[in-house]
Amino acid sequence: MFIYAGKCGDAGLKCPKCGSERVRDVIYGYLPFDLSREKEKGNVAWGGLFMPDDAKSYECADCGERW
Ligand SMILES: [Zn+2]
Repeated sequence: MFIYAGKCGDAGLKCPKCGSERVRDVIYGYLPFDLSREKEKGNVAWGGLFMPDDAKSYECADCGERW
């Protein structure tokens, strides 16, 4: 089971900290194989097996900020 906290492919998303548009979805839970590959390519970020109450939906690829 895996959970998408974020909505894939949102246009115009920007990092609130540095303004970068290189924003990745943060995914929780067990990653299926295809998503593991996306993670290795840096297209998505993995937030851990368990989704915290304050789970973040996005991660900035430049400064690492999550929100
Ligand atoms: Zn940033």
